[in-house]
Order: sequence, then C-alpha cells, then structure tokens
Amino acid sequence: MLRGTDTIADVGDGEIVTVDETRSDGMRNLAADSQGYLTARYAKFPEFPTLYHQGAGGEHQVAITFDDGPDPRWTPKILEILKAANVKAAFFLVGANAEHYPGLVRRIVDEGHEIGNHTYYHPNLALCWPEHVRLELNATQLLIESITGRATTLFRPPYAADTSPSQLSELTPLQIAQDLNYLVVLENIDPQDWAKPGADIILQRVKQQRRDGSIILLHDAGGDRSQTVEALPRILDWLHTRGDTVVLLSTLLGTTRDAVMPRLQQSGQSLIRLVSSTGFRLYHGVEEFLWAFMIVATALVVIRTLVVIWLAYRFRRGPKADFAEPISVVMAAYNEGRVIAGTLRALLDTEYKGDIEVIVIDDGSRDETAAEIARAADVDPRLRLLRQENRGKARALQRALSAVRHGIVVFVDADTHFQRDTLPRLLEPFADGRIGAVSGHAKVGNLRTFIARCQALEYTCGFNLDRRAYNRWNCITVVPGAISAIRKDAIDQAGGLSLQTLAEDTDLTLSLHKHRQRIVYVPGAIAWTEAPESVRTLARQRFRWAYGTLQCLWKHRDMVFNWNYHALGWFSLPSVWFFQIILVAVTPMVDLFLLATLPFGAWRAVMPFVITFLAMDVLLATLACILEREPILRAWRILPMRLIYRPMLSYCIWKAILRALKGALVGWGKLERTASVPVRA
Ligand SMILES: [Zn+2]
Repeated sequence: MLRGTDTIADVGDGEIVTVDETRSDGMRNLAADSQGYLTARYAKFPEFPTLYHQGAGGEHQVAITFDDGPDPRWTPKILEILKAANVKAAFFLVGANAEHYPGLVRRIVDEGHEIGNHTYYHPNLALCWPEHVRLELNATQLLIESITGRATTLFRPPYAADTSPSQLSELTPLQIAQDLNYLVVLENIDPQDWAKPGADIILQRVKQQRRDGSIILLHDAGGDRSQTVEALPRILDWLHTRGDTVVLLSTLLGTTRDAVMPRLQQSGQSLIRLVSSTGFRLYHGVEEFLWAFMIVATALVVIRTLVVIWLAYRFRRGPKADFAEPISVVMAAYNEGRVIAGTLRALLDTEYKGDIEVIVIDDGSRDETAAEIARAADVDPRLRLLRQENRGKARALQRALSAVRHGIVVFVDADTHFQRDTLPRLLEPFADGRIGAVSGHAKVGNLRTFIARCQALEYTCGFNLDRRAYNRWNCITVVPGAISAIRKDAIDQAGGLSLQTLAEDTDLTLSLHKHRQRIVYVPGAIAWTEAPESVRTLARQRFRWAYGTLQCLWKHRDMVFNWNYHALGWFSLPSVWFFQIILVAVTPMVDLFLLATLPFGAWRAVMPFVITFLAMDVLLATLACILEREPILRAWRILPMRLIYRPMLSYCIWKAILRALKGALVGWGKLERTASVPVRA
C-alpha cells in the first residue's frame, strides 16, 4: 500500500512548470530511489501532486527575467543595457506599478521583450484565498491588455524563491494560474540581487548557478537596483564568452513571442478593453485622489495637533477679580417639564454675589414646562416667565433679549445644570472692560450610554480643548448657547441674535469677532449638559449643528483666509471647514477604500498614515483628559469611537451638505429629554 502524500513529484527539466494537484493512494512493490525516479512496478499508480517541468532549452540557451517593475528609475537603464547588447529579456510586471507607468510597459513591448504577470499588489499567494489570487491575476492581465493590446500567458508568483515548491499551499496558486491558461515561469539562477550583495557577488552567483538551470532572475524595481544595473552588462559578457545565447522565454519553450503574448482581436473585445481601460483610469484617479487626500490630511492633522497642544499648554486663566455687577440670565424652554425645575434650582442656588434676573421663555411647550417655571417664579422673585407660541429657539432668545434689564447676559440651555460656583467664575473675566464675551465649559452629565460617553469625550477633546487652545489667539469660533455670557451692548452692536442660521450661537460669535470683541474661555465655569442618548436623537442634533455650521461658514465666508481676522481667519475657521466638515465627510470613504485594498497587501503602505492618525487622536485625547482631570484611560475610548461614531457623524455631515445644497429649511429638530443629568455640585 502506498499513500498518496503531499510530497510533490517533479517530472521533466526546465523552470516553466505545470501542476497536477490530484493525488490518490496506489500500490507498489518498491520504493522510489534517492533521485526521485519512480522505476518500480505498480499495482496501482499512486498519484502525487506533480510538477511537470518544461522549457529547459538547448544547452547554450539562457533567458533573463526581471521582476517587480516597471520602475521609472531602473527599468529604462536596464532597457538601455539590453538594447546595447541586442538582447531580449522578459519582464514580470507588478500590476500596481504598470498602472503608474504605462509608458514603460509599452516601451518594454515595443523594444521586443516579453512581459509576464507578477500579480497586482505582489502578495504572498500561498496566504491568499483562491478568489483573491484570481483577482490579482485578472486585474493585471486586463491592465496589460489595455496598455499593450496583447495578452500574456506568462506568470511568475511573487516570492517564488526556488524552482521546486515543497508545500502544497504553494501549488494551489500555481494550479489556479494554470486553470487561467498561464504558464508558470520559475527560475533556477537566482543571484538574489534584491538583497544588494554587491555586483561582484551577483555575477559570481550567476556563474555558480548557471549549470543548474537556464532562467536568470533579476529585479528592475523594489528598491535601489544600482547593483543589478552594474552587474547586468558583466553577466551578459560572461554568458557571451561562455558561448551562451540569451533567448526569449518563448524560445526556451520552442514557440514564438506572439504565441506567449497573443495580440488581442480587434473586433469584439475592443468594447471590453475600452471599459476595462476606462475602469482602470477611473480607479487610478480615485486612488490618486484618496492618496493625496490622505497625505495632505495627515500632514494637517499633525500640524493642527501640535499647534493645539502648544496653545492649550500655554493657556492661562485671567487674573482673579471680584465681579458682582447685576446680570440677566436668559433661557429658552420647549417641552422641558421634566428637567426645567432642576435647572432653575441649580442656577439660582449660586454663589454669585451680584443681582440676578432670570428670564425664561416658554416656546409654546405642550407639557408642564410653563407650569413648572411659574411655580418656581412664585417662590423666587428673581425669576420671570415669558410665553410665546412655538416659534423656535432663536426667536425665543430674541424675545428674552429684548426684555433683559442688565448689561451682561448669560445664556443657559434649559437642560443644563450649573454648579454653585459656575456663575461667579463665568462672570469674573468681565472685570476687564475689554472682554466682550465669555464661554463656559460644557460637560456631558449623563454617562449612561455608549453614545453619551462618546460625546463626553468629544466635548473634552474636541470643543473644550479647542477653546482652551483658541483662547490665547482670540479665535474661539463658538461661544456655546448652553453656557456663555456676553455684554448686552456687544450683542446689540453685532446686530443682535440672527435668525439667518440654525446655529445662532456660532453666528453671533462670528459677528462679535467682526466687531472686534475679545472672547475668552473659562474652563472652571462648568455646566453639565445632557447629551442625546440614542443614535437617532444624536443624529438629529448633529445634523442641525452641521447644517447650522455650514450656514455660518457660508454667511461669514469673507472671514476665512482674511488677514483682518488673524488667527480666526487663518487657523480656527479653516479648521472648522477642514476638520469638522471635509475630513469628517471624507474619512469614512478613505476607510472604506483602505478596507477594500487591504487584501491586496496595500496595508503596508497605508499603515503609517492610519497609525499617525490614530496616534494624533490618542495624543490629543490624553492631553485633554489630563487638562480636564478626567481619567487618562478614558482617552483610549477615542479608538472604538473612531470606528463607530465617526461614520454616523459623517452621515449627518453629508445629509447637511446635501440639504444645504438643496437650500431647504430645517425645523427646530427638538431633542427628546430624559431628565437624566445627575446633579453634581
Ligand atoms: Zn517579485
């Protein structure tokens, strides 16, 4: 009994092989001898996986092959040497390189050489799925056809370090190639020029190995090939003195160049070729764009990260001051019945020493909001309730502004809890008469869901870190409606609260900048806000923000890259454009593209960018957590966030962009409140 094992039997001579993978058990009386010659008598022939070799050629025939090209630096040099010696060779092209340098591919064919398929992205085929192997081969074939008008039947697998594959896993790709009608071209003379052993060694190895075979393997790409270029003429000389003739692979096979590289039929196939070449060009264009985008984006991200870190690190709080002028707090409420009482209680239970009036506009709530406010107003004369039909937050705030009596206006959201020290800290900077507006520090109070925790981190290392950094250069882009204080006359001077955009706080902030107001950030003035807890409500909120931001960016587009606005025009506003709109919109596409190219081995080229991106994210998040005294481990949450949270943001941005293009109007987009901000004081 003889087992059909995985041992691969070799039959014939030469380095052009065909595979027979079938194996079965057989019966035999004698073992094979040490040369592998199976001379015994068989009852039943065992079938081994077998490599049939051909293409040994005549004793003085030798072929030279070049792998991995074309390369714009080395391939032309090699072509010159070959031309000078009147020698024809074979080039096994990597599809990705051929795609970049189609002119070189045409030149190789025009100068009479042969070309073969060396896969698209040069993966180790033994580790690839059969489908992937087929895709690599077919894509390269199509590309070669569309560039040269010829097909090729020659194929060499990448990393085929020797002529005799010993593992079954190495045979499978060969079998696939063969099923696709390729001749698999291996090599026996491998001087390992890719390892740059020196031109002398390369020549010496060719001399030593010449008697083992008739196909020489060299490389015209994949690094510095100057040693190959140096060794090639000497190899040709030596072969000549030895009496060898350098021939084409087709000659070794006893056939013609046109037989191994058949011209495509003009009729019938031209449409397919047109489609495939257009496809390649399109793919090429998209690929080029995404690469360029990735490089530019990575550079900008790094620059911005460094600037933000530097600025945030240099953040200094203003001098301590006793400020106790009378203030007016304004708040718009719509269906906040469950939280409004708590908000007002926390607000009025303040350490602030000056006079306070609180004006709450009930914007036509359909729940008990108005009743709750009225009840609180009964016991606290500082509180006033105004009511209106439901007309939107901005109109509600406008109405409240027209009713304020004091010179400084504090804006609070109806679901936002102040601490006892929030107001005094928020108002302290107004002791300096030059300061027009102050942004407080909004933090996410409800940390029950993953979505809310993501937002907490986003507030920490996005909005708040930005404000800390922008403070020094007076380029804060948004004084948040949730917690901020602005001088009344500055608001009036800026034209009041505008109804033109959905992001009235951003709009007002930019208008304040236009009127040269100094805007500062006070990280110590903390307000706990309630973040959306479901994807749906968050998506709605973000869509409104994105849309409002786009409106503001468009309305104030004259400020971007405008020297009159210093850092605002050149740093923070362009940052909003690029990092909050463009990058968020495009990143998932880049991610998808990367995922799509991963099986082709492109990850090696892509990894540095991905790592840089993620490293910058983690770096910023860590710094933000340190500055806000949050647990540092929380910073790592930025990584899963990127995968899950970013695509959603991107969706909202796209929706906003499309809506903006359509120019449609958006409603109030009310969030569902859950009264879940825990009171922290
Ligand atoms: Zn290779």
